[in-house]
Amino acid sequence: MENVIILGTGCAGLTAAIYAARANLNPLVLEGGQPGGQLTTTSEVENFPGWPEGIDGFTLMDHLRKQATRFGARTQFAQVSEAKLHREDKELVTDGGEVYKTKAVIVATGARPRLLDIPGEKEMFGGKGVTTCATCDGAFYRDMEVIVVGGGDSACEEALFLTRFCSRVHMLHRRDELRASSIMADRVMEHEKIDIHWDTVPVEVLAGGDGTMRAAKIRNVKTNEESELEAKGFFIAIGHIPNTGPFAQDLHVDDKGYLIPENGSQVKTHLPGVYVAGDCADQVYRQAITAAGMGCQAAMEAERWLASQE
Ligand code: NAP
Repeated sequence: MENVIILGTGCAGLTAAIYAARANLNPLVLEGGQPGGQLTTTSEVENFPGWPEGIDGFTLMDHLRKQATRFGARTQFAQVSEAKLHREDKELVTDGGEVYKTKAVIVATGARPRLLDIPGEKEMFGGKGVTTCATCDGAFYRDMEVIVVGGGDSACEEALFLTRFCSRVHMLHRRDELRASSIMADRVMEHEKIDIHWDTVPVEVLAGGDGTMRAAKIRNVKTNEESELEAKGFFIAIGHIPNTGPFAQDLHVDDKGYLIPENGSQVKTHLPGVYVAGDCADQVYRQAITAAGMGCQAAMEAERWLASQE
């Protein structure tokens, strides 16, 4: 029987592991489907406090992992496909059929950005033009033209953020009305650097001779007319998919699948000994540092709860 099992090795999971390990809980961390989490797909992280020159996402996660293992956290490659969290001895079943028993669980399984699944998207992901995070990558497109896909609050926020660096921001939205809140929509529509291409979807991301993005092929869904739009950056902001499938039966989730913390706490759930942290339970901030903060809170809550059970 484990004291605490932490699911996920993104910023939330590894920070929880550091705190749990330093509290002598001997935590077991299960890596999940994307070891290191979403930051491992980002080239440079410039907004994580403590790294004035920036740090690449992979190295940052490697540091967090070393910090956690230094204090005794154990990591294992395992993907949980079934969770029985409502009982005193919680059970986690991996897709390989292995069963882990634990007193406490911290679910920090993250979320994945929804992607478009169009040609060129995968090929130019991560440093070659295609990205899902303006906060992380916007500054690399200084004085360049970029494209933002989506019509929700995230797309508007990304587009507005990008106007600080980019010479022009083209927003592609598949309808003729933004989904975003009216205050965000108004700001975007009034911004002199933002052009909204209504009723328009991207069809392909096109590479130049050096393998980085040159343009996007776009299509007007009303006229079916296709054209090329030159840009060096392609920011996809069409929502996220939380990795919460195995927990949705036992824990409260919202209509999009995000885990809902108990009222008054960011990390407690309605089940004793079960905590959530990071992007699987946060669709508002979604930053490395906020995930790390939730991981810290979850580990401290788990520690207090375990102590209360002795
Ligand atoms: P969202 O509200 O679900 O918007 C997703 C957008 O992407 C929609 O405009 C949607 O088009 C478009 N879209 C989805 N799939 C697409 C596809 N395959 N091809 C092209 N376009 C596609 O997601 P979000 O903007 O990430 O926001 C999520 C939640 O967080 C919302 O509740 C939002 O209010 C909140 N949020 C708030 C703030 C803030 O208040 N500052 C900032 C960010 C997010 P349709 O409109 O046609 O469906």
